Parts: sequence; structure tokens; C-alpha cells
Amino acid sequence: MRTRDCKIVATMGPASDPPERLAMLIEAGVDCFRLNFSHGGREDHARRMQTIRAAEEKAGAPVAVFADLQGPKIRVGMFADGHITLRYNDIVTIEASDEPGEGKLIRMPHPELVGSLEEGDVLKLDDGKMQLTVTERGRNQVKARVDYGGTLKNQKGVNVPTRRIPISALTAKDREDLAFALELGVDYIALSFVQHPEDVREARELIGARAGIISKIEKPSALQQIEEIVELSDAVMVARGDLGVELPPEQVPIAQRQIIRAARAAGKPVIVATHMLESMVDAPTPTRAEASDVATAVYQGADAVMLSAESAVGRHPQSAVAIMDRIIRAVEADEEYWSALPRDMTPPQATTADAIALSARHIADVIGCAALVAYTATGSSAIRVARERPRCGVIGLTPYVETARRLALVWGVRSVVTEDARNVEDMVAKADAAVRALGVAGPDDRVAIIAGIPFGRAGKTNTIRVLRLE
Ligand code: PEP
Repeated sequence: MRTRDCKIVATMGPASDPPERLAMLIEAGVDCFRLNFSHGGREDHARRMQTIRAAEEKAGAPVAVFADLQGPKIRVGMFADGHITLRYNDIVTIEASDEPGEGKLIRMPHPELVGSLEEGDVLKLDDGKMQLTVTERGRNQVKARVDYGGTLKNQKGVNVPTRRIPISALTAKDREDLAFALELGVDYIALSFVQHPEDVREARELIGARAGIISKIEKPSALQQIEEIVELSDAVMVARGDLGVELPPEQVPIAQRQIIRAARAAGKPVIVATHMLESMVDAPTPTRAEASDVATAVYQGADAVMLSAESAVGRHPQSAVAIMDRIIRAVEADEEYWSALPRDMTPPQATTADAIALSARHIADVIGCAALVAYTATGSSAIRVARERPRCGVIGLTPYVETARRLALVWGVRSVVTEDARNVEDMVAKADAAVRALGVAGPDDRVAIIAGIPFGRAGKTNTIRVLRLE
């Protein structure tokens, strides 16, 4: 009767677009889809959103969707010949300009970056395949030495791990994409290249309560203020693609652990992303190392693990989801997982909601409840109980489909959209009906219910009730 607790995010793309394929991905276990605004046009995102919502309705369970904004991805400009060759120890010039570069001149349309570079700054080019170190700052340009070279093609990405770049996490394109994504009705907006808490505050001003905010942690500067960023966000993502360019590879696992711990301490969902089953872009099975990587994220208590190219452009999207599902289930069947989970737990905050969440988990564990039901308007009380990682998982009952969808990203939560309870008898009856309909409890099973009385008000969880099913 138990289902999987850690959730699966799949990135949409040509490989997942056909409606019948998308329905199969949901059936194989996808809980949340990612619309990647770094690729594809508006019509692609709108069509994908429609396909997801139609499949969600058929599947009869809420599915979350997030729009992943491109963010201020810095790129080199064009080259007269389409590329230049960088050789070890060459000195190149970097200039802010829209004109094409050539020879030993790299131009880029980013005056804010070039203007902020100082001697000693490191520039990683094309996902870290090449590296430059700034040797001299001029008025409108800088000189840099090639640490390791290669062929640098038009518009390849630039990462500057040594510097906080004085730009907002939202470019003009992001602002337009954001407005469009909100019109589409996405559940979360993912912010790329968050550098400091101010980036999240700025996005919140624009988004308000219309969608949750997922802060993608991919800059060392964000790691330095991780607690505050987590606090201001609704969820975070360990975006290991860019993080692995900004940090040396041996630091990525440490950062992953630090981010997961900060998110779990605050009770915010955390997604581990990028290269999880990368070889499955082509191959029908993952490598052992990839299976182990997914399992590690699950053991660490991640709320969700994510597929990128595997589901967007890969040859085996459905198998990638099915294998992720099997890896998660295998870990969750291991006693060691359950005994290790509490090690990363932090004490509850001194709030009624946290005290009730903790008590409900104790009750569920002590008497072996088949389900823990949380009446939740905003999703907050379901998230607070999920933070306690109860073995029986959490059933969120909410009058709002938007809340049910957002909860699809949260560890252990399954939601049912149902009208608010009118009174205590109705509260018990609705919980009873929901757990039976989901098949998580049957005759003689006990179920713990948490709710706020009087009903119909958000943020008022104050009651625990234990029910024995007839
Ligand atoms: C990442 O860098 O890991 C990531 C998820 O972001 P993107 O795929 O948008 O670069």
C-alpha cells in the first residue's frame, strides 16, 4: 500500500512532447514537469502546459509544473570566423562589445561583467572546458592568460566563480518569460543564477503568491548565504550543472549536502538536479555510478530528483523515469534509510504548527498509523509534517488545486482536492474517504489527522485526531 516518497521531476522537450509519451511518463512516475525557458519558444511552452494538464486530468492526480527561467547566463559574443583557438599561456583581450571578436580578441555583450573583472579573476568558458585568468585591468578591457585552451565557438557560456556579478537574477527576457509563465498557470518559477537573497526578494515582488519560487543554487556566492536564500524561497534546487563549473568537482558533493541540509532544516523542498542518469540520453540503462548518485540524493533526504536531457531529448525517457522510480523505491525499502533520515533533522521551531507536526509524526510512528492526513490551505501544514519524514507519508487535503499541485514536489505528500470540512464529523468523514480512495488505509487501520479548527482559515493548525477505520 505504501508508495514512493521522493518525487521525480522530468524536463519537457521533444522526447517527452507527444501526448501519449507524456501520459506514459506520468504513469512511470513523474510528479513534476520542468519547462526549460532556455530552450524553445512560447508556443512550445504553451503547448506543453496544455498537454501536461490534459494528462494530469486523465491520471487523476495533481502534477506540478515549473518554469525554469534562463537567468543571466553570460556568454561570449560572436567571432568573425565562428570560433577562435585559445592556446596555453596566450594573452587574450576581453572587451565589452556587440561586435564580433577574432584572433586573440574576445568580445562579449556584457559591460557589467567586463567592468567588474579584476586581476586574478578566473573565467571558465564553455562549461569549464577552457579557462582564463585575468592579468591586467584596462579602462574598457582586460587582459587574460589562457590556463587551458581549446576551440572557443560563438556564444559559449562564461562562468566567473571568483566574482559576484552586479546583475539581477532576472534579465529583460526573464521578466517577459515570467509574465508569460504566470499566465500559463505554472506552479513554481525557478530562478537561475541566484547570487544573493536580494535576487529572491526581487522575484517575489513580481510573482507575489501567484507561484512558488524555486531558487537554483549554482553560484558559490549563493552558498555563502544559503540559509537566508532558503528562507525566502519556497523550494531550492541543487543545480549541479553550473555549480560544477563554478566549483571544483570535489566540492560539488559537499555543496549538495550543505544545500539539502539547509533546505531540510527550514522545511523547504529540495530538488537534486543534473546528470543524474545522463548516460541514458543514449543508453537504455544507467551506469552503476549514476544509480548510486540517485540513491545518494534519496538517502540524504532530497524531496525530488530531476531528469534533464534524459527526458527532454534522450532516447529512453520512459525507461529513465522507470529506473529512477525503482532506485528510489529500493532505497526507501532499506531500513538504513529510515534510521539515517533523522540524523539530518533539526529541532522544530517554537510554533504551534511545528509542535503539532512533530506530535503527529510521533503518534503515527508509535501506533503505526497507515496514513497521516493534513488539512491544508496553503500547503504549509502538509510541508511541516513532511519535514518530519513520517514513515506513513502525508495525505494533503486541500480545497485548492493550486496547493495540491505545489505539494506534488514535496517528499511523501499525496494530495486530494476536497472541500473544506464543515465540522469535526465532516473532517473525519472526508479523511476516511480520501485514504480509502487512495488505497493507503482500510478496515481497522488507524489514521492521524491534523487540522485547524475553526475550519476554513489558513495558518491555524491546532488539532490532532486519531481515527480507526471501520
Ligand atoms: C544546472 O545548471 O544544473 C541546471 C539545472 O540549470 P540549467 O540546466 O538551466 O543550466
